Amino acid sequence: MSRFNLNYCLGTVLILSFWLLAYPAKAAEVVVYSARIEQLIKPMFDAFTKETGIKVKYTTDNEGALLARLQAEGKNTPADMLITADAGNLWAAAQEKLLKPVHSQVLESNIPAHLRDPHNEWFGLSIRARTLVYNTQKVKPSELSTYEDLADPKWNKRLCLRSSKKVYNQSLVAMMIADHGEAEAERVVKGWVANLATDPLSDDTRALEFVAAGKCDVTLVNTYYYGRLMKKDPNLPLAVFWPNQESGGVHVNISGAGITRYSRNEQAAIKLLEFLSSDKAQNLFADVNMEYPANPKIAADPFVAAWGSFKQNSMNLVKAGELQTTAVKLMDRAGYR
Ligand code: FE
Repeated sequence: MSRFNLNYCLGTVLILSFWLLAYPAKAAEVVVYSARIEQLIKPMFDAFTKETGIKVKYTTDNEGALLARLQAEGKNTPADMLITADAGNLWAAAQEKLLKPVHSQVLESNIPAHLRDPHNEWFGLSIRARTLVYNTQKVKPSELSTYEDLADPKWNKRLCLRSSKKVYNQSLVAMMIADHGEAEAERVVKGWVANLATDPLSDDTRALEFVAAGKCDVTLVNTYYYGRLMKKDPNLPLAVFWPNQESGGVHVNISGAGITRYSRNEQAAIKLLEFLSSDKAQNLFADVNMEYPANPKIAADPFVAAWGSFKQNSMNLVKAGELQTTAVKLMDRAGYR
C-alpha cells in the first residue's frame, strides 16, 4: 500500500470516528401521541421494548389537542403514531391528512376488516360495545330488544341518555344512519328524545347512576363504564343487555391507532402497531380498560366475558366518520341536546 493510500485510509478512519462520536447512531425509537392515558398504554410499551429493544416515548393529551398539535407541527412532528378512541376521531385524523396508509399482512390478519380503515390509515386495537344497561328491579330483560325499540312509547319517561355532544353518541347515530337510512334513524332518535326521563346527562357514569337510583329504567353506555361502577359497588341493581341480536348486532366502536403522515421511524412504528394487534399485547390493551380485544382470536378478560357474548354490528366503522356531520345535524333536528 502506498504512503498516500495509507494516509488516506487513516484520514478516513479518523473522520469517521469523529463523525460517529458527534452523531452516535440513534437507537430505534417510536414516538406516540396518545389520547389513552399513561396507565392504559405503558404496560404494552414496556412489553414491546422488552421484546424488540425499541424504545417508546409518549405524550398523552385529549384527542383534540393532539390533532391540533399534529396539524401545527406538520412535517416537523416528532410523532410516529397516534392512538385515540372512537373511529370518528381516527377518521377525522385521516381526513386531515395526519395519517399514512400501512400495508401489513399482520394487521390485516389480526384486525377484522370492519374495525379498520378501508384505506389502511387506522386500525382498531380494542372494541368498546355501546349497549343497553337497565335497572334490574324495574325492567325484565324480556322487555328489551333493540336500540330502535327504545323509541317506543312504552319507554316514556324511562330512558336516560348521555349528551349528543359526545362523539360516542354521534358515532352510534351515524352507524344507525348507515344501517337504516336517515329518515328511519331520525324517527328513532326523535322517539328517544320523547322518552327521556331527564335532560341528557354529562357522561356515561352519570347515566348509569341515574338508572341505579331509579330515576330512569334504561340507558345506553359503553360497557367499561358499567364495569367500573360494578367493581366499586357489585350490589347496584344494574345489568347489561345486548340489543339487536336478531338484526344488525350491537353497536361497537374502537380504540385504535395509525402511523403519522410524517413519521421518521415508520418501520419501527409499524412493528409497534403490529405488536399491539398481537396476542402478546391485545389483553394488555383491552383488559386495563375493560374493553374487548379487537383481535377475535383473543378472549376478553373473565370479568368482562361474564357479561355474556354478543353479535356485533359488522358495518365498517369508517361510516361513523363519514356520516358524523349528518348524525350531528339529525340529532339537532330531533331535539337531542
Ligand atoms: Fe370513554
